[in-house]
Amino acid sequence: MVIIYSDPEKPRWYRSLRWKLFFLYFIISLVSLILFSLTMGMVLKSYFEVRNEKDMLYQANKIAGTIRANGYLTDPGLEAKFLNDIDEKSTELSSRILVFDKNAKVLADSNSSETGKTMLIPEVADALEGRSSANLRRHIGKIYAAAYIDNDSGDMLGAVLIVTGFDEVYELLSTISSDWLLLTILIIIVMAVIVYVTSGHIIKPLSLLVQTIRKITDGDLHQRFEVKGSNEISILGDAVNNMTAKLEDEDSARSEFVSNVSHELKTPLSSIKVLSETLLLTAAESVPAEMLKEFLQDIISEIDRMTNIINDLLALVKVDNRESGLNLGETHLRKMLIGIMKTLYPLSNAKDIELILEAEKDVVIDADETKLSFAISNLVDNAIKYTPEGGVVKVALEADHQNAYISVIDTGVGISEDEQSKIFNRFYRVDKTRDRETGGTGLGLSITHSTVRRHNGSIKVISREGSGATFIVRLPLRTGGEETV
Ligand code: ADP
Repeated sequence: MVIIYSDPEKPRWYRSLRWKLFFLYFIISLVSLILFSLTMGMVLKSYFEVRNEKDMLYQANKIAGTIRANGYLTDPGLEAKFLNDIDEKSTELSSRILVFDKNAKVLADSNSSETGKTMLIPEVADALEGRSSANLRRHIGKIYAAAYIDNDSGDMLGAVLIVTGFDEVYELLSTISSDWLLLTILIIIVMAVIVYVTSGHIIKPLSLLVQTIRKITDGDLHQRFEVKGSNEISILGDAVNNMTAKLEDEDSARSEFVSNVSHELKTPLSSIKVLSETLLLTAAESVPAEMLKEFLQDIISEIDRMTNIINDLLALVKVDNRESGLNLGETHLRKMLIGIMKTLYPLSNAKDIELILEAEKDVVIDADETKLSFAISNLVDNAIKYTPEGGVVKVALEADHQNAYISVIDTGVGISEDEQSKIFNRFYRVDKTRDRETGGTGLGLSITHSTVRRHNGSIKVISREGSGATFIVRLPLRTGGEETV
């Protein structure tokens, strides 16, 4: 039993692009060659026909001229010389020559067979009326060329007829045709080889690309397609490489995120464990009420921290989830900012921070108010958190004809230039110990960043370490109610 293993994804040879290209090229070349050969044959044939007709007519006229100059038709004493001349000319031209008088009677025939007879030949009749002409009679393969003979006063004396075979030309043409056919077959074979090899060259990078994509699909995200030259396939390869690089980035970001989440949750869990174990160990002895209270408070604050992290994670997942969509609606930014200020006022007040809102006119945009409000709250909350007591936090609302701008400006500790590019990363915190005190999770700014991006806006930070920070959020004004995702 023979088992043939075949790749189910590999197309049958006759369906493959290479063969299709090959056949296409091949058929086009074949048809062009055949058409070219046919046209060439026809052109050559008609060229030779016209050329021979003209030649023969020229010869007939020449003989008519000689007859006239020598006075062969008017002087009967010259008959022998006349007949001799005709015979010589006939041999020279390998053609039959007949001379007629004005009544179409044959005076001389190089074949001698028709002498004395009256013959009705259209070309001769035309010539006797003063119209010399030559015609190819295809059915017998002969050219009939007739020229008239007249005297000095223009009287018609007779006509000369040359009958010449066209077979030689046909033979020449058929030799040319068979040579041409041979050459054509040779050209077709050479072309087929060239086309087969070139189509292989065209298809090869595609097969390599498919191999690379298969490896990527199998999970090897390090795979890259070697881009050569600048054609459509290399553009495609480049696009696949970029896509894979993005997938790889996302993959490593996801792993990093998972490890960060685990780490962030592990720390409070370990604290809770240690605190609980200590309590358990000391449970046998009577634990002082003071100590019990302190330990339980620590446990509660660790649980609060975990709750914060989980809440932020849930918010982040919600914003990131593109399928969940935004609940867009007419959003009055001034009203929204006033709400945020009211909520956060107790925090700023507790730190004796002056909280200012500068919003001269209202700006209306299409936004998911709940999500956007949460995003801006994060910025104001941070500004209060990272500004020492007695500082100032200012929130400003402005707009031009395309965008709304919300700035959150503080007089706090500021962010160094190095850190500015990282603060929007998940779980990134400038000073981990300080943030444990402030209760930060390192997720706030990434939630804000994702939310603003999903509203087709952007966010930037301007700051110097030690001299406050300014976050500017740009949001596009209403465009006609389409949902932005
Ligand atoms: P967190 O919950 O820790 O505040 P964020 O994502 O909101 O996390 O902020 C990331 C880090 O950026 C913070 O840990 C802090 O160091 C820094 N940061 C954010 N806002 C400010 C600010 N207004 N002034 C100084 N540093 C800031």
